[in-house]
Formats: sequence, C-alpha cells, structure tokens
Amino acid sequence: MASGKKDIRALTKEQLRDFFVEQGDKAFRGNQVYEWLWQKAAHTFDDMTNISKETRQMLEDNFVINHIKVDNMQRSKDGTIKNAVRLHDGLIVESVLIPTATRTTACVSSQVGCSLDCKFCATARLKRMRNLNPDEIYDQVVAIDNESRLYHNRPLSNIVFMGMGEPLMNYNNVLKAIDKITSDEGLGMSPKRITVSTSGVPKMIKKMADDAVKFNLAVSLHSAIDEVRTSIMPFNETFPLEDLREALEYWYAKTKRKISYEYVVWKGINDTQKDIDAFVKFCKYVPCKVNIIEYNPIDDGEFQQATNDALEQYISTLEKNRIVVNVRRSRGKDIDAACGQLANKS
Ligand code: SF4
Repeated sequence: MASGKKDIRALTKEQLRDFFVEQGDKAFRGNQVYEWLWQKAAHTFDDMTNISKETRQMLEDNFVINHIKVDNMQRSKDGTIKNAVRLHDGLIVESVLIPTATRTTACVSSQVGCSLDCKFCATARLKRMRNLNPDEIYDQVVAIDNESRLYHNRPLSNIVFMGMGEPLMNYNNVLKAIDKITSDEGLGMSPKRITVSTSGVPKMIKKMADDAVKFNLAVSLHSAIDEVRTSIMPFNETFPLEDLREALEYWYAKTKRKISYEYVVWKGINDTQKDIDAFVKFCKYVPCKVNIIEYNPIDDGEFQQATNDALEQYISTLEKNRIVVNVRRSRGKDIDAACGQLANKS
C-alpha cells in the first residue's frame, strides 16, 4: 500500500491523544480509537462504531491500518493449524497454532526470513528480509486466538516466539508486541505464558535481564561442544558457549527464573556419550529444564533424527542428574508446520 499515509498503530496512546487535541477534539477520543486498534483488533476505521462518521473519515484521510491478512490456513490431522500471513508490503511469514490436551500454543514469527543461518532450519534458507513491526507480531497472535476459539473452543493459552526469525535480533519490536499482548489494553495475557526462544545472543540475554522482562527464556542449544555447535549454528563462532554461559548466569542471578533448553538430537552429529556429558555439564551451570524436540527433516540432507537408543541415553543421563526433561513430539508434520519447517512452501 503506497498511500504515503502513516500506520496509525505506530502511534503510542499519548501520540494518539495529542493528535485528537490538535484536531480540536477531546484527548479521550484517542483512548477510544486506541481501544479499537488493540483490544478490539479493528481492521478498518469503519469498524469503530462508537466514533462519529466524520471522525472516521478524518482518520481514513490521515492514516492506514496495516493489518495482516491470513492468506492461507492449513489444518493438520492432529489439530495443528498453520497460517501463511501476508504483510502490508506483500511479504509472507508463517505462524502456527499447536493444540494439546491442556493448552493451545501460538508459535509466532518475529522476522521475515532470519538473520542467522542454522544449517538444519528451513527458514534460514530465506535470508532475513526485514523485521516484523510490533503490530504484525500482535496480529499473528490475535489471528491464532480467533482460530483457537473457533476450532478448539478455547482461547489461546500460551505463546512461543519460535517461528521464523531470531526474536532477539528484533528485540525492541518483540518487546513492544509483548507489552501489547500482556497489557489490559491489549489481550491481557500473563507474561508467564509467553516464551521467547533464542538461539543464544549473549548481550541481548543480558539486556533482557536488565530490562526485568517477565516472560520466559528458552535457548535452542543443540550442542554444548563449541566445534559441534559452530558446525550446525555458525554464529556460535561469534558467540561461543562460554559467552552464552556467562549471559545465562547473569540472567538467572537477576531474574531467578529457570531457563529451558531446546535440544534436537541428530544422527552422527550430537548423539555420542561425549555430547551427552557436555550437555549435562552445561545444564548444571544454571537451573534449567530440557525439551528434547523431535526433528523433522527438511530434505534428504545431512540432518536425520537420531535413533531411539540415543534419545533414551540422553533422557536417562539427564534424569540421573536430576534435570527435568520433556520430549516434544512434533506436531503438524503433514502441513510442514513443525519446528524448523517454516519456509513459506504453501
Ligand atoms: S533456527 Fe531459528 S535462529 Fe536458526 S536460522 Fe532458523 S529461525 Fe533463525
């Protein structure tokens, strides 16, 4: 949309109130419009039924609402839903609804493509095109919440930033989106139900701790041996495990909140006893829990899920060391909605 008009959702509530005062109206009108934009997720100015027609026209003349559009929704046999979401400039990102017996989780994207280049990840092949704006992240959550109510008869219960992109490389916008999601003027969700999953950017983990964020932190670790991690996550060369460890210790000292490690075990890559021992050692630095995630091959390449024996060996060694470990079976495989599979294929 090349109208030259400003996206109204880039304005803060204060700016919106000031705008109305400049127009000779009451500041309170700004509150009403703000509520329509965020709490009621209005798609057009005409949706704002308690605002006069003249005022709606005036808004229309000055602003646009750059709303996302769910271009394509796919439903998996297991209830998982994948949205291909078209942004105002035509770019596409994906988000996923994952239902289980007790919760409904939205997995949302934070960038178009990704700044990083993890070798096992389909998104990495897209390269980073741009960061998502706070409203584009917020809209993905609203769309999934609506689908959750429609298809699963319950509201969304959890959010993970584990879709396309590295959220800490778009930190300010992710934070602004979470502010809106958790605010009573937005969706009013508890930050305890939100997890930001990073591949591990040490200085940003420290910044999150300094900013006293209230949401949870997950780290996609996949290996606690530098050479192995660098071979599958090349940015580890710049941010080695020692720096990551120091940042995680800093996080825990400041927040007193456990970290989740996301971990995939691949055949011939990180499935030996040496890999397991290094991981257990790393887990002892900071209180944590572990999610072992089933891998979904993105092609016939070098990354294949490890054998059950290797997985069992990981699980039993972690448990022997009193580390809480969950195994996450992947969902939505039939629609390429599983972890690491988001690549705008549909
Ligand atoms: S795994 Fe995450 S951080 Fe790594 S390339 Fe994929 S989207 Fe980016």
